[in-house]
Amino acid sequence: MAVPQHRTSKTRKRLRRTHFKLSVPGMVECPECHEMKLSHRVCPNCGTYKRKAVVATERA
Ligand SMILES: [Zn+2]
Repeated sequence: MAVPQHRTSKTRKRLRRTHFKLSVPGMVECPECHEMKLSHRVCPNCGTYKRKAVVATERA
């Protein structure tokens, strides 16, 4: 079985993990309500797409 010749230092381990990042893909700001939403999707907050109301909401 392969055994590491050298123990990985805390710094080396942490430097390697700087590349492990969480990403939030495809999130853009809604032009109407400025909430974050998925791009190319109707805004779940205000129900608009391309500044047009496409889903009926209580307040609109
Ligand atoms: Zn919106």
